[in-house]
Amino acid sequence: MKYRSTLHRSPEVSLREAVLRGSAPDGGLYMPVEIPHLQKDFLERLPSLAFPEIAREVGALFAGDEIPPQILTKIVTEAFNFPVPLVALGERLHILELSHGPTLAFKDFGARFMARLMEYFVQESGKQLTVIVATSGDTGSAVAQAFLGVSGIRVVILYPAGRVSDAQEKQLTTLGQNITALEVSGSFDDCQRLAKQALVDPAIAEKLTLTSANSINIARLIPQTFYYFAAAAQLGPSESLPVFSVPSGNFGNLTGGLLAKRMGLGVAQFIAATNANDVVPEFLRSGKLIPRASRHTISNAMDVGNPSNFARIVDLYDNDLQAIRRDIWGCSFSDEETLRIMHDVEERHGYVLDPHTAVGVLGWQCFAKQNQSAARGIVLATAHPAKFAEVVERAVGARPNMPERLAAFLDRPKKSISFPNRFPELQEFLLAANT
Ligand SMILES: *Cc1c(COP(=O)(O)O)cnc(C)c1O
Repeated sequence: MKYRSTLHRSPEVSLREAVLRGSAPDGGLYMPVEIPHLQKDFLERLPSLAFPEIAREVGALFAGDEIPPQILTKIVTEAFNFPVPLVALGERLHILELSHGPTLAFKDFGARFMARLMEYFVQESGKQLTVIVATSGDTGSAVAQAFLGVSGIRVVILYPAGRVSDAQEKQLTTLGQNITALEVSGSFDDCQRLAKQALVDPAIAEKLTLTSANSINIARLIPQTFYYFAAAAQLGPSESLPVFSVPSGNFGNLTGGLLAKRMGLGVAQFIAATNANDVVPEFLRSGKLIPRASRHTISNAMDVGNPSNFARIVDLYDNDLQAIRRDIWGCSFSDEETLRIMHDVEERHGYVLDPHTAVGVLGWQCFAKQNQSAARGIVLATAHPAKFAEVVERAVGARPNMPERLAAFLDRPKKSISFPNRFPELQEFLLAANT
C-alpha cells in the first residue's frame, strides 16, 4: 500500500515513511493511493469477530506487506485491550462507547495504534525518534499514555497554560520517563503553531528525527476506521443501514467513518455534529469553508476553527460537493442545548453523557426528526463523563463516578516545564535535550 499527499506535489511513500513523517513535504496530508476494499466474506463474518480481529483484518489492508502478520496481531491485541460496547438507549438510538481506554477518550484508539506502529518502524531503523504534539487536552493525554516507556521514542507535549481541565493536566504532566510536558503561556493555536514550526525547521531536522502525533498522522486515522465495523457487528443485520452521528472538531473521527464506508461498510448517513465551531456544517450549506478563530465551549475538545482533516474529506470526494452532501449531514448546537440534552438523557435513561457525546446525540435527534425512515442511529461516545465532571455536574446536578484509573492520576504531582510562547526557546530545548 502506497500513500500520497492530498496536495499531489510530493512523491508517493510507504506506510512507514508516511507515519514517521507525519505530514507530506508539500504540506498536504497522507492518504492511501487507493482505498482498500473489503472482501464480502469479511462483512458476513463481521458479527462473529472480536475487536482485535476486526482491527487486524482491516489494518492489514492499510499495512500491505510492510508489517508481518504476527507483528500486526501483537500491535492490535496490545493497543485495543479494552471493551468497545454498543449500548442501546431506546429503540432507535445506540451509543458506541469509545471511552474505555486508559485516558477515557476515543483518542486512545489512534494514539495507542500509532505508538506501537512507530515503535516497530523505529526499531527497524535503529534511530531515536522525537514525537511532538500540541494539545488542547485529550490528544496529549492519550499520546503521553500510549508512548510511555516506549524505547527509542521521546515525546514532547505542548499545552496551553490554564486552558485544560485539571484531570486532563494531570494525565499530561504526571508520567515522567520519556514524556516531557511544556506548559506554554499561550493558546492551543500558539502551541500548534510552535509544533508546526519545529516540524519544518532545518536546524532541528539536521540533528533529530522529529514527527507529529497530531491527528494529521495517518497512523491515527487508520484505527479510527476499525470501530465503525465493530459498531455494525454489534448492531446486527437489518434492512436499514445505520446512521452514524459523530461529535466533531478536527474531523479525524468522521473521516475514519467515511473511509470505512468506502471500504465497503453499509452506512446510510453520517452526521457531522459540532458545537458553536460550525465551519463544516456551514460548508455543507454554503459550499465554502471559511476558517475562523475557535470559540470556547463546554465541549472543548471540539473547539476547532480550521479542521485539519477537512482536506482529507474533500480529497476523498474529489471535491464533489453534491457527493459530500449525500454522505454527510451537518448540524451545530449551543452549550445550552448540550446541557439540556445531558439533563434529559440522564433523566429519561439514567445514562450520563459527556458534553461531546451530547452534541452527537443532539445531531442524531435533529436528523431523526426530519428523517423518520432512519431506523437506527449510532452516536460515537468520544469521552467518559468523568473527564468533564464540572460540566456534568452543571447539567445533571451530580458529579459522575470517577473511574479508578482517572482517580489514580489526580493524586500524583504535576511535573511540567513553564515555557514561553516563542519558537527560538523551543528550538533550543529540542536540540539541547537530544544531546
Ligand atoms: C478530539 C475529540 C473530539 C473531536 O474529534 P475529531 O476527530 O477531532 O473530530 C470529540 N470529542 C472528544 C472527547 C475528543 O477528545
